[in-house]
Amino acid sequence: MQLNDKVAVIHHGGKGTVTGSCHELKIGRDAVLVDCGLFQGEDAPNKALSALNITFPIQHIAALVLTHSHIDHIGRLPWLLAAGFSGPIYCTKATAELVPLMLEDGLKLQLGFNRGQQSRIIELVRKRIQAVDYNVWFPIKSKVSGYFTYGRFHHAGHILGSAYVEFKLPNQEMAVFSGDLGPNDTPLLPDPVAPMRADYLFVESTYGDSNHQDIASRSERLLTIIKRSLQDGGAIIIPAFSVGRTQELLFDIEQLIAKHHLDDRLPIILDSPLALRVTKSYRRFKKLWGNEAKKRLDARRHPLNFKQCITVDSYSQHKKIVNRLQGSAEPAIIIAASGMCQGGRVMDYLKALLPDGRTDVIFAGYQANGTLGRDIQDGKTTVWIDQVPVNVNAQVHQLSGYSAHAGQEDLLRFVEAIRAPITQLHLIHGEPSSKRELKEMLMRRGFEGKIVE
Ligand SMILES: [Zn+2]
Repeated sequence: MQLNDKVAVIHHGGKGTVTGSCHELKIGRDAVLVDCGLFQGEDAPNKALSALNITFPIQHIAALVLTHSHIDHIGRLPWLLAAGFSGPIYCTKATAELVPLMLEDGLKLQLGFNRGQQSRIIELVRKRIQAVDYNVWFPIKSKVSGYFTYGRFHHAGHILGSAYVEFKLPNQEMAVFSGDLGPNDTPLLPDPVAPMRADYLFVESTYGDSNHQDIASRSERLLTIIKRSLQDGGAIIIPAFSVGRTQELLFDIEQLIAKHHLDDRLPIILDSPLALRVTKSYRRFKKLWGNEAKKRLDARRHPLNFKQCITVDSYSQHKKIVNRLQGSAEPAIIIAASGMCQGGRVMDYLKALLPDGRTDVIFAGYQANGTLGRDIQDGKTTVWIDQVPVNVNAQVHQLSGYSAHAGQEDLLRFVEAIRAPITQLHLIHGEPSSKRELKEMLMRRGFEGKIVE
C-alpha cells in the first residue's frame, strides 16, 4: 500500500488478524519493520514451524522497532535472525527487559526449543537490542546511505514498556503505528495520549466492536466474589497471564487489603516463575506507572510487593503448597499462569482443587474455544487434566474489567484526539467484524474517505 510517492507499507501479518503483527515501512530503497510477531491459534498457517519462516525479502530492512513484548509481536524474531537480519532492534527500556523473558517462555512452551537453543537465540536478540527512552527521537540509519527516518515511542498503556511509535518521513510527514493500545482509566499504567500529528495512522482494532465493562468497579466486583467464597473456606484460583493481568490483580488485591476490606492474614499466593520475574520488572520501572499507582507509593504502600503476597518460585515449593491446600482447604487466593489454563502451574491447582465444592475459580480474561479454561467456564462437570478425568464441583466466576486492550470508545477517542488532519487511516490488528464496526463509527465521526482497510 502506497502512502506517498516514496513511502509504502507492506503487512507481513497482523492486518486482518490479531496475531502475527509485522509491518514493513518502506522508504525509498530502505525499510523498517514494526514488530515481528508469532501467528497464534487459528491464525497460524498450518501450525508447522516451517510456516513461521520469514517469507519476505529482508536485505533492505535497516532496523526492527518493537512496540511491546507480547509474543504475537516478537515471536518470529528467531526466524528473522536466522534469515540474516543483522540490524538494530529498537524498543523502550522496559520492553528491552521483558523481551528476553517473554521470548524464553514462548520458545519453550509454544515452539518447543530446548534450553541450549533458547539461550543462544536470546543472547543474539540481547546483542541487537538498543533501548531508548519514551518521547525521544532515535535516528534510523540506512544500510547504504545515511539516516532515512526517525522513530519516537509514546506510552500505549497496554503492558509495561508498551508504546506506539511515530516515524518522521523524509518529507516531514508522520506515519504512526499504534501497536496494542491499552484502555483508559486503568490504575497501574498511564492512559495513551494521542500524537499531535499522524498523516498515516495504523491503528489496532482488536475491540473495535465492543466496550469493556466498567474498570472502576472491577475491584468491588472482585471483592464481592472473594467475600462470598471465603464464607465456606477453600481456595480461590485466578488463572492469569504473567504480564499485565497478574500485576493488575495484585494491585487491586493490595487495595482491598489496605482498605481493610480483606483480612490481612489471607495469603495471596503468586505461583508462576515468569509472572514473578515480570512483576519484578514492573516494580523496577515505577516511573512508568500511572498517577494512582504512584500515589500509593507516596503513601509508603507497595502495590506489587505487599506482606501477604507469597511468591513461589521453586517447583518443590509449588508442589508443597498444592498438597497443603488440598489437604487443609484453608482459604487462600492463588494467582497462577497460564491465563487460559493451557499448561503452567495453575493446572496442578485445578487438578487438586476443582473437585472440592469450597474452591472458587475466577476468570479475569477471555477463554478461547478449545481451552481447558473455556471448558470450566462453560460449566462442564468433568474436565480432563493430564489425561485424567477431574470432577468440577468448584464455583466458577467471570470477572470483567481486566482487559489490556482499548475498547471501541477508547480507540475512537485516541483517533479523534489527533489535532492535525489525518490523510490515511488504516485499520489493522482486528477481525473483519470488529474492523467493520469501528469503520462505521469512524465514518459517522467525520473520517469518511480516509479509512483504508
Ligand atoms: Zn499485546
